Amino acid sequence: MRAYLKRLPAELKELISLAGKVSRETRMPAYLVGGFLRDLLLKKRNFDLDICVEGNGIIFAEKLAKKLRSGIRVHERFGTATLILKGRLKVDVATTRKERYPCCASLPVVSEGSLIEDLMRRDFTINALAFGINQGQGQKLIDPFGGREDLAKGRIRVLHDLSFKDDPTRILRAIRFQQRFGFKIEPKTFLLLKEAIDSGLLYKVNVHRIRDELILMLKEDNPAKQIKALYSLAGLSFISPKLKPGKATYSLFKAIDKEIAWFNKNFPGRRHLDVWLIYLAGLLKPLGLAEIKKICRNLALRGGEEKRIAGFRQSGARIIVSLSKKGASPSRIFSLLEPLSYETIILLAAVSKNKYCRKHIADFLEIYNGMRLYVSGHDLHGLGILPGPVYQKIFAKVLAAKLNAKVSTYEDELALIRRLIQCPGTNALKKQ
Ligand code: ATP
Repeated sequence: MRAYLKRLPAELKELISLAGKVSRETRMPAYLVGGFLRDLLLKKRNFDLDICVEGNGIIFAEKLAKKLRSGIRVHERFGTATLILKGRLKVDVATTRKERYPCCASLPVVSEGSLIEDLMRRDFTINALAFGINQGQGQKLIDPFGGREDLAKGRIRVLHDLSFKDDPTRILRAIRFQQRFGFKIEPKTFLLLKEAIDSGLLYKVNVHRIRDELILMLKEDNPAKQIKALYSLAGLSFISPKLKPGKATYSLFKAIDKEIAWFNKNFPGRRHLDVWLIYLAGLLKPLGLAEIKKICRNLALRGGEEKRIAGFRQSGARIIVSLSKKGASPSRIFSLLEPLSYETIILLAAVSKNKYCRKHIADFLEIYNGMRLYVSGHDLHGLGILPGPVYQKIFAKVLAAKLNAKVSTYEDELALIRRLIQCPGTNALKKQ
């Protein structure tokens, strides 16, 4: 393990060393656990650290946050805390715990437990690894279920026969890791997984948990592969019986991949995209609006998320037709695209096969989207116009003129406003 840890970037080594110090000072044994260790052994970069503490995870996290001079968010009810760090590092700290499932697919009853009990509640052997941070604890990998060998052999394996029954979201997790790493689901695990699917357990899980796992699948590097594998193993009826992705969906996913890559390359400073939402809207595209809204509500998506997904279904086709017209004016393009989210715009670009539509979207993002006026409310007031909704109307007209290259300088803008307020209708709003 030492050799693996040595290769880590300096920021991670420093953090682990500080956590070791806290472990010694508080006399609470602390361990790196889960995905970070799995990825370390796979030689994959991972900046999400999970630390498990035998004792009190919150006190441990508070002391670590103090040393790091970082913020902290405490989740008292779960005995966990997240450090709020600048940059790419993420640290979650938890008290070791054990779980008991009173019945199939129910939420577990959680209580304090040892490290081994904490590892026993985990999904797969490859995620049930631990490593003592405090040097006094020895520098050996703690691997009670043979996770290291499964990693080497490329196997996804559950820890016990009731695993999928206890928590059917592990079905989605198994498929996600299988597809991400190109692993095989070990034969007995595969039988248990099929049995859990066939007995309808995916219909019994809390929808929020299904949503969270589905979103994680759609955030993976190749969501088409993920959805294909999920559909062929489990179907998607547990989301909607009408959801039957085929060739068209997968080629739309490919087009979305391209558009996202284009957007990220050309507009690195813009808002971070919710890529999962673009793929989900793409997946739901063949369905009717009512069904899409029903799915969004069933999955308990947030209002803004539902609005973006349903909004595309509602007006996407109409907007594409307008954008596909050769010679559409910049102000027209602006008025069509400006109210939409970047996610919706990316999806429009992916869906449309028309070269003008694609060009108009690019123009919007490259030029019009960042266009600002020189004049402000102060100037309108100076011209004697009373503040009110008319300000927005005037700004919209000046912006349209600017987009269509009819005005360019501050003086042009002012001159246009003067002309506008000569018109009957706006004149009445001038100061008495
Ligand atoms: P990723 O690389 O996708 O972030 P991860 O393994 O870090 O993978 P998380 O969802 O962050 O995944 O979960 C952290 C750890 O918690 C996992 O490594 C696993 O041990 C455990 N875990 C998460 N979800 C479950 C679950 N449904 N059942 C059991 N253990 C789980």
